[in-house]
Amino acid sequence: MSVEALGQKLPESDWSTERSADLYRVASWGGPYFSVSAAGNVAVHPVDDVGVSIDLPAVVAELCKRGVQLPMLVRFQDILRMQVKRLNEAFADAIEESGYRNNFRGVYPIKVNQLHEVVDEVLDAGREFGLGLECGSKAELIAALANLPDDETLLVCNGVKDQMILSLIVSAQQLGRNVLPVIERYFEYETLKTLGWSKGFVPNLGVRIRLATSGSGRWASSSGLNSKFGLSLPELMRLIEELEAGGLLDRLQLLHCHLGSQIADIAVLKQATKEITQIYAELTKRGVGLKYLDVGGGLGVNYDEGHVNRDAGINYSMQEYANAVVFTVKEVCDAQGVPVPTLVTESGRAITAQHSVLIVPVLAAQVRDQLLAGEQVPEGAHESLKGLAAVLATLPELSETQELLEAFHDAKERETDIRSLFMLGYLGLDERALADRLFWSVCRQILDRLEAIDDGSLPPEIGELEILLTDQYLCDFSVFQSMLDHWAIGQPFPIMPIARLSEHPSRRGVLVDITCDSDGKVNQYISALADNRFLPVHTLNESERYFMGFFLMGAYEDIMGDAHNLFGRVAEAHIYADADEPQNFWIEKIIPGTAVQDMLAQVQYFPNDLQRRMSELVRAKIQAGVVRPSVGMEILDQYMACFQQSTYCGSIGGLDQDIV
Ligand SMILES: *Cc1c(COP(=O)(O)O)cnc(C)c1O
Repeated sequence: MSVEALGQKLPESDWSTERSADLYRVASWGGPYFSVSAAGNVAVHPVDDVGVSIDLPAVVAELCKRGVQLPMLVRFQDILRMQVKRLNEAFADAIEESGYRNNFRGVYPIKVNQLHEVVDEVLDAGREFGLGLECGSKAELIAALANLPDDETLLVCNGVKDQMILSLIVSAQQLGRNVLPVIERYFEYETLKTLGWSKGFVPNLGVRIRLATSGSGRWASSSGLNSKFGLSLPELMRLIEELEAGGLLDRLQLLHCHLGSQIADIAVLKQATKEITQIYAELTKRGVGLKYLDVGGGLGVNYDEGHVNRDAGINYSMQEYANAVVFTVKEVCDAQGVPVPTLVTESGRAITAQHSVLIVPVLAAQVRDQLLAGEQVPEGAHESLKGLAAVLATLPELSETQELLEAFHDAKERETDIRSLFMLGYLGLDERALADRLFWSVCRQILDRLEAIDDGSLPPEIGELEILLTDQYLCDFSVFQSMLDHWAIGQPFPIMPIARLSEHPSRRGVLVDITCDSDGKVNQYISALADNRFLPVHTLNESERYFMGFFLMGAYEDIMGDAHNLFGRVAEAHIYADADEPQNFWIEKIIPGTAVQDMLAQVQYFPNDLQRRMSELVRAKIQAGVVRPSVGMEILDQYMACFQQSTYCGSIGGLDQDIV
């Protein structure tokens, strides 16, 4: 019996780039920056001018040509600028439309992405709008303080503050900088007061309020009455009384709240804004000199539009967000008869998420359903194998769901028998391997046929078969370094191949990383498939590398990665759009990824010591005659050369399609 390589679905002839765009739901997360081009590649539109379209695979090819290691993070700096502009324009429009008689002064929370070039770009784009910064720790304060462009630009200092941080903030105020410590805990105020007295200087300050309104979803615990941050209302009143007694009501300049990141529902934002504005109005009437009302971060990003419940989507646009804040504050202030404050938001995610794309090469695929071309079940094979081959042979004659299910049950039973026979020593390893290939071929055919029968029945076996037949695509990256939120809190990110989008992605894959951790995989995808545990992928070709794009990676993920398995930061490149360049882009900067020796140094292994130990070993082996001196020295050179290398694979000697 000859069995051809089975299970390879032919590309659907009527497949199109539009269908790929729908399948990967590009419109739901990509707009206005990403689309699928007519050539079947991901295209990037980082600037307002629709004519400027950048071919993502071309960027990757150019970077590879320049020696940038894979995986790589590609930053579209123009997208950062565009997002800053869009946010400020949204508020400007809302202010204009509502007749709000004050300004918007956003601050960028640098914890979202502290990379110097990101902060510089955001500040530069925000200059015309008076955009400031927000910091939440000592190191962030130190970085932000020296980067404020002028005395007017606001720096909001959140987070728990020790005496040293508070002291530095007071000094910055002495220098004339607009730096406000936001009191998160009452003791901070007491420290600040003592410090101010000792310097003969009464500092300005802000205060964070613990609202009754709480956010929802994954990040909700940063808000609500039980959050770890902010003053309760009794604490606030105690603070006010103290300021009042000292004649210092004008020093309290900013009122702050933060609902947590990725606010999914606009109603929650309106509720919180209403609550904090009431507090603002009361305090203002009491004579507190509040200038700023800061509603925190939380402006969300559509990772998958329409999935508000999975925290993957939001139910509002940036304009609606701005309207909600501006109109709500105005309404409450008008009703209370107090002047409206300067509005502050601390949007981070919404500014940075879209600008960076992680490009990850697929190193190999583990596919389960292939018989080798022309493979035969040998004459003398065990009866159980012949039985399985017979099931395979009858499949073309079956057409009813019931018949196919029966064949599946039959095959499963035989497969179980084969396993027992192997355990008992009646089957050889070769036969066992052939049996596996036969079984998976049977499964693939049955699944394809079942899916093709469109009678509305969805037997549970389909799910079982899908899991059994999922391909594993081994990707050169670490979930722990590059997608920590996916691993830790199950946040989904859009992932898709960046090329071949005019071809039907006929395989159902799961992406696994190169860490030695069974958790090192992506287990939730954004696609139009009903089952989001799989990603549709293309069959790998020998001739071309297959790249996955991980999108919306610019917020948080860049910075939170850990050193699991000592994979370090990936290489990155900063790209600008320019219609005058042949391919509409130019590369401004390349930052190499972490080298092996840098990663090792973080855990206290140092090159000198390691190299000394290794050379002692080699010398001893040469002396003992185990290797010739020349071979010993080659081995040592090889070891030494690794210190400078990237921590990732780069390649594993061409593409591999494993057949298991
Ligand atoms: C994290 C954080 C932000 C940023 O939130 P985004 O959802 O990224 O906009 C803003 N303010 C505070 C206090 C934060 O802790």
